[in-house]
Amino acid sequence: MTIVLGIESTAHTFGIGIVRNGKIISNKRDMYTTKSGGIIPMDSAKHHREVSNKIYFEALNEAKISEEKIDAISFSQGPGLPPCLLEGMKFAKTLSKRLNKPLVPVNHCVAHLEIGNCRSAYPELRSKGNKIAGAKNPVLLYCSGANTQVISYAGAKYRVFGETLDLGVGNFIDTFARYAGLGFPGGPKIEKIALKGKNYVELPYSVKGMDVSFSGILTNLKQKLERKEYSLEDLSFSLQETVFSMLLETAERALAHLGKKELVLGGGVACNSRLQRMSKKMCEERKAKFFCPERSLLVDNGAMIAYLGEIMFKSGIGFSGKKAQNLDIKPRQRTDEVEVSWKN
Ligand code: AMP
Ligand code: MG
Repeated sequence: MTIVLGIESTAHTFGIGIVRNGKIISNKRDMYTTKSGGIIPMDSAKHHREVSNKIYFEALNEAKISEEKIDAISFSQGPGLPPCLLEGMKFAKTLSKRLNKPLVPVNHCVAHLEIGNCRSAYPELRSKGNKIAGAKNPVLLYCSGANTQVISYAGAKYRVFGETLDLGVGNFIDTFARYAGLGFPGGPKIEKIALKGKNYVELPYSVKGMDVSFSGILTNLKQKLERKEYSLEDLSFSLQETVFSMLLETAERALAHLGKKELVLGGGVACNSRLQRMSKKMCEERKAKFFCPERSLLVDNGAMIAYLGEIMFKSGIGFSGKKAQNLDIKPRQRTDEVEVSWKN
């Protein structure tokens, strides 16, 4: 039996999850929020420092294990905001020293992909009839605040097949929402308002090869809103239709080029029902399987870090003693830089 604890702290969320033999047995998190504006990294790090012990004990309680049972501690090494990453790593190092257990550094984006392969639904959600993931070799459409990437494992590496050339899709939606006076986070609010939209308003459609860009669309939307020619409902509806089509065009092209038959969603924007429905439809049309992890595993969370951490640990990866204490964060680590020794 193997038990691995995972720590997530790349941006606004401090999360701790615990996995036992590939099964998620706890997943606790606390999110830093602001009344207006975006994340202030130092404040978010302070938040993480303040909640870390509470979340740790909540996670142990939920898993119904004592800390001596933990075999290894994994943490998000990157990419992310340096002060936030440092807090998570500091917590991981202290724990590793105290419990005398090895550390496993994990790439955050790869964890979003791998959690799509997890077969065990989080216990709390299993009863709610949520879709259970369990892909084998998928393409990930990762849509979060800061990141927008199409990722898959191919040729012994996790490769980025397409990505945003400017803003992350979540930040793009949030920026428009803030401009429209909706506050933060804007994604869920735009989703709700879009339901009332009736007319499609033509917007720039920005797919360049396998990549997407959002800044031109943002400027266009702002201008249209300023001129009061269109309702916010119609603009929100059109924003979602345009931008989600762009994302799915690149994801579909990755599926086609790679000859893969599974799509997994990840990131906070993937909580959007319209994006989920459009993804499902695209998959049905090309006879691919669609996997959408539960909400608690789509957003930033410790369980996905523990899940990938356990796979890596079982393959022999783990740093102890001085080597553990010498590990560093990798704020700009790229998905394709990750050395993969745990997959064949
Ligand atoms: P993450 O960075 O993965 O934690 O995701 C945060 C982003 O997800 C923010 O930009 C939110 O606005 C966005 N988000 C959350 N829920 C939704 C939703 N239902 N529709 C669109 N975006 C959303
Ligand atoms: Mg994320």
